[in-house]
Amino acid sequence: MKRSHVFQSLAAHNSPTRVTLRQYGTLFTTYLGPQWFRVVCMTLLLIGSIVLELLGPQIIRIFIDAVQHNGNGQVLTIIALLYLGAAIGSRLVSACASYFSENVGWNAINQLRADLTRHCLNLDRSFHTAHTPGELLERVDSNVEQLSTFFSQFVIRILGSGILMLGILVLMARENIWFGVTMGMYLLLSNVVLTSLQKVAMVYYKRHLQAQAELSGFWGELLSSLEDIASSGAARYMLRHYSHLQRRENSAELKRTAFWVGFEGTGMSLEALSMLVVLILSASFFVQGRFSIATVVMLLIYTLQLLDHAYDIAEQLSTFQQATANLERINEIYHTQSRVQDGPGMHFPAGALAVCFEDVSFAYENGQTVLHHISFQLVAGETVGLIGRTGSGKTTLTRLLMRFYDPTSGSVLLAGQDLRLARLDDLRTRIGLVTQEVQLFRGTLRDNLTFFDESLSDQRILQAIEQLGIDEWYAGLPRGLDTELSSNGGGLSAGEAQLLACIRVFLQDPQLIILDEATSRLDGATEKALGEATERLLAGRTVLVIAHRLSTVERMDRILVLADGRVLEYDRRKTLANDPTSHYSQLLQRTNSEGMLT
Ligand code: ATP
Ligand code: MG
Repeated sequence: MKRSHVFQSLAAHNSPTRVTLRQYGTLFTTYLGPQWFRVVCMTLLLIGSIVLELLGPQIIRIFIDAVQHNGNGQVLTIIALLYLGAAIGSRLVSACASYFSENVGWNAINQLRADLTRHCLNLDRSFHTAHTPGELLERVDSNVEQLSTFFSQFVIRILGSGILMLGILVLMARENIWFGVTMGMYLLLSNVVLTSLQKVAMVYYKRHLQAQAELSGFWGELLSSLEDIASSGAARYMLRHYSHLQRRENSAELKRTAFWVGFEGTGMSLEALSMLVVLILSASFFVQGRFSIATVVMLLIYTLQLLDHAYDIAEQLSTFQQATANLERINEIYHTQSRVQDGPGMHFPAGALAVCFEDVSFAYENGQTVLHHISFQLVAGETVGLIGRTGSGKTTLTRLLMRFYDPTSGSVLLAGQDLRLARLDDLRTRIGLVTQEVQLFRGTLRDNLTFFDESLSDQRILQAIEQLGIDEWYAGLPRGLDTELSSNGGGLSAGEAQLLACIRVFLQDPQLIILDEATSRLDGATEKALGEATERLLAGRTVLVIAHRLSTVERMDRILVLADGRVLEYDRRKTLANDPTSHYSQLLQRTNSEGMLT
């Protein structure tokens, strides 16, 4: 089954989060299937270690019997060496099995992490608005990590321990049927007790996971807005909120640990009780002359092994329940399907792309309509300046063009075709977008400009910098393209980050360019210099420029004025400027000397 289908099948289940048995099967075949050879090696090694473990007590019995029957020194030495060989062999084989199982487990969860990350990247913006980065990190990283033991060992250890216990019970019953049956009944009963305890513990386990995710979410938000918090005096509130979340996490962890300790304590008490039962039973059989002392010793060792493995199964079942809790949280993410789905693909003509909005209305998740019946056409190669007051819907309109969202009604057309037909990757390589907030990555200036695309040569980058007329700024950088930048804007001013975003767009060579207040943070002189260079570079492309400064749009072919999500005016800039009754010309008259809209 293709990996991308796995979680669709998980998500297809009625309940958004619960994982069914069949889905576990799908998970195993998807993530363990490609590693079948390693899984087979691991299984064989585990069977080997089981056989060697069963052999040990038998050898001890033979040894004691030989001692009792005055066996000669040579025979005793051979038996002792055999025992040593079996013990060392068993340890070696299980060490090899552990190596394979760790390997298999980590490969599986790394693949799962990669799939989950890909899925998150493809989800639309409404999902990312609803989940904090910290919470996503917790799910993609920690929750997945908890699945490692489950993937690598669960089935094999359950099966291994089960087979071994059955083997021991058969060997015990061979000595005495009642002995075997009593031990069998006892094990069944103790398992029922342990599993019911686990069920209660699981409730506390899930609560702890949730508390951890909330704390991580808080950390993510805190770290990304440290400057704002310090400057707005919100530090005290954040500290209070932090201690509240931390207390909740601690108390959840305390309860979870308390139940775990209770679980372990019960396991140990059951172990002590069973040793008592075995001692009484075997002592009475010994007194009756039915068991030799060698058999008693062998049975005691078998009992210890039996209890070890019964406890192992209980532990594995708890791993299973923890894995289920983690899988449910992962499944919640996979259940979220992006509302913006890839189209079948459409043919984009070469050169500039025509844009058309046909009666487009749009509301975000909160249901409030922010764009109302927007209709306008932009011929290929034309430039349009989009102006309007804060909150009038300018950025929202560009988000529809990038297909971060789909319109609630109406359609957006690019080159005469509905955007919903396009493949998202294809669409986004053809549109260059510079937003109000420029995101930088930890890496060199070169990496930040090329997005780690090594096919873009330094020469091309330097050419773009020169064409944009900002070579003076570039010359001032300490290490040129090798200048290290950090993700929180380190090393660049807000205006410089916008320059960097403009270079990115020109390197991308798109057919439609959207500049959302791309030059709002530049000083007048830099903006003017950039404006002239931009004009040359924008030639032959369709361009949509959003600006608060009228000077920024004074070279545009057309002007679109938005007000409260409605088109107030849309026409050629010259026509609007010459019409004294138009909003645009009135705005021109009202602007201050800086060209700022007042
Ligand atoms: P500005 O000039 O300040 O950038 P804008 O014209 O770009 O403003 P938009 O960002 O498009 O305005 O916002 C239009 C309206 O949509 C606003 O009322 C805003 O509150 C709302 N809005 C924006 N983003 C979201 C969102 N993710 N979820 C819900 N509402 C949103
Ligand atoms: Mg905006």
